[in-house]
Amino acid sequence: MSLANKLAEERRARLAAERLLEQKQAELQAANRKLGRHARALSEEIVETRAEVQTVRDENARVKSDLNMANEKVAIAERRLWHSIETIQDGFAFFDADSRMIAANHAWLGVFEGLEDVKPGISYVEILQCVTEEGVVDIGDADPAAWREKMLDRWQTVAPEPEIVRLWNGAYIKLIDQRGPTGDVVSLALNITDTIRYEERLKEARRKAEMASRAKSSFLANMSHEIRTPMNGVVGMAELLKDTELDEEQLLYANTIKNSGEALLVIINDVLDYSKIEAEKLVLHAEPFDMERCIQELIMLMQVNARDKGIELLVDYDLFLPTRFVGDPGRLRQIMTNLLGNAVKFTEEGHVMVRVVGVECAAQGAARLHVTIEDSGIGIPDDKVGHIFGEFNQVDGESNRRFEGTGLGLAISEKLVRLMGGEIWVESVEGQGSTFGFAVELPLADPDAGQDFSVPDGLRKVVIVETNALNRSILERLFAALGIEVICCDSGAAALETTDGSVSLVITDHVMPRMDGIELAEALKAAGHAAPVLLLSGNIGSVEQDPGRGFVDAVLQKPFPRAELFAALTRLSGSLAGGVADPDLPQDPGRVMRVLAAEDNRTNRLVFSRMVKALDIDLKFAVNGEEAVAFYRSFRPDIVFMDISMPGMDGKDATRALRALEAESGGHVPIVAMTAHAMDGDEDEILSAGIDHYLSKPLSKQALIDHVVAACPEGVRAPEEGQSAA
Ligand code: ADP
Repeated sequence: MSLANKLAEERRARLAAERLLEQKQAELQAANRKLGRHARALSEEIVETRAEVQTVRDENARVKSDLNMANEKVAIAERRLWHSIETIQDGFAFFDADSRMIAANHAWLGVFEGLEDVKPGISYVEILQCVTEEGVVDIGDADPAAWREKMLDRWQTVAPEPEIVRLWNGAYIKLIDQRGPTGDVVSLALNITDTIRYEERLKEARRKAEMASRAKSSFLANMSHEIRTPMNGVVGMAELLKDTELDEEQLLYANTIKNSGEALLVIINDVLDYSKIEAEKLVLHAEPFDMERCIQELIMLMQVNARDKGIELLVDYDLFLPTRFVGDPGRLRQIMTNLLGNAVKFTEEGHVMVRVVGVECAAQGAARLHVTIEDSGIGIPDDKVGHIFGEFNQVDGESNRRFEGTGLGLAISEKLVRLMGGEIWVESVEGQGSTFGFAVELPLADPDAGQDFSVPDGLRKVVIVETNALNRSILERLFAALGIEVICCDSGAAALETTDGSVSLVITDHVMPRMDGIELAEALKAAGHAAPVLLLSGNIGSVEQDPGRGFVDAVLQKPFPRAELFAALTRLSGSLAGGVADPDLPQDPGRVMRVLAAEDNRTNRLVFSRMVKALDIDLKFAVNGEEAVAFYRSFRPDIVFMDISMPGMDGKDATRALRALEAESGGHVPIVAMTAHAMDGDEDEILSAGIDHYLSKPLSKQALIDHVVAACPEGVRAPEEGQSAA
């Protein structure tokens, strides 16, 4: 190879080497640049991280300081809490879910003073063990193991009931333990010694107060008995004195003695009843009784007063309502006496009407009775009517007292009605009248017995003659309800005009202006009317004395239970619809009525015999219970009046003996108790001995006569024949 070629070849090799060097230098530069960029990025990252680290450090420092502060606060709160817990005098302790004590205050631990084991960490079971072994709690006669078991059972319940324990030193501690959701228990031990002592003192005070109240009631009852006995003499003798020849002034004195005595007795009875109800000593005694009869008897009692004032007393007893119920007749009578007595007292003219309606609750065998007593009296002002049932609330103030009364009657009535589970109300318009009402639910005495209102077949058309519009409408409704045609007349003259051959019966009131009932009967007969005349009279005695008595076919004493009206209709059935009664037909006068009175006190026997002097009866006295029983056998009385307290066999025992004799021989003689007793429960005991009626002393002449007259059996001469009833 030539040199030139060799040179050319070397130059090419050098050029190639130079190009390679340039390329490598360029690559190196690029790598350097990349490295520079990376180094820059890294250093930026380091700066950022440092900043973050600083922030975290700052935050950490802040949290630490917050935590310290919070810890300090918690410590303060805990200190304060414990301080407070330590200050309270009641015990306070915590237990964990395993029943180990976490902490307890001094008061709690103080009970276990000297027992080193009782401290945080001890279990509840160990505490109970300590309590019984060291006698910390006075468990009385209880067995320690049983007591511990009982306490542990209680502790383990979800919500333990509070428990009262007595410590060895007589202190009473109430344990209130509350379990939290995690099973921890907070235990509170309250020292209730003062409360318990206070309760004991209260109980003692109450016992003493009750004793005093019982003593007061018994004092009242005894006093009332003591006052009633001499009052019997005062009132009874004054009544007898009135029947003797007296000049006007003497009569005034005798009347005043009697009225004042009676007023005093009313007050004594009211006060006694009220104190009994207040002391919750009054118990109701239910027994079968006849509501209608009960009302009629009350009306009879009130009749004298009402008649004196010229007030009409009316009864409207729902025709379809049964009459026999089970209830406390004595107390019902007392309520009605109060309401009826007030109605008569506060009415100067017009009427007083007792209305009884009822709804039968057949399923329960009971009826809800509504009894209203309506009067046309002075009424009660609107502003007074709201509190009229309160004690001693009277409308007329002390300064203008026109009416007597204690102001207790309505309060007693209200309490009695409430005791019977009923309600009482009043509606009144001043100057127009008042309506007092009460509603009670009473079981039916004979739930299966239907009402028997059979009227004679011949009774198709009745003429009712009655001046009082209310009474007329009561009778009209009664007969209309029975499907009988009724013609109402307000005077004898109108009746004479209306009556014709189609009339089966004339029912007339007795006392009427211009032509009275008996004159009407006479006029009807004179006019040739065949319809019999039934006379309704408030005074049978005067009817019997009336020369025209013979024109009347039957007489009913007003007020009459409906049963008596139906009985009279039945008796007249033969002469209805054209039959003419023969007034001249002689009637069998029958034997005289036999009345037995057992009374040990001579004065009372005298009072009794003078009171019934006017009656046509055969009166026999027994001076004790044994004699009463003996006379009952030999004398066979139609009615017995029985004094309750007699030496030897008393009235209750004698009654039981009579009832026992009757059980063998049959029959039932009415026995009327006479007593001055007013002790708790006496009345009920007396009635439960088999006595039918109850008269308290001093006896009222009218009540005695009413009982005798009511007991007159059929076929026996009427005791009032030829006498005046008043
Ligand atoms: P009192 O013994 O005074 O009659 P009550 O408690 O029976 O006591 O009655 C309280 C008062 O209610 C009576 O004093 C009277 O003012 C009034 N009062 C009661 N019933 C009637 C009535 N039917 N008409 C008007 N006022 C009456």
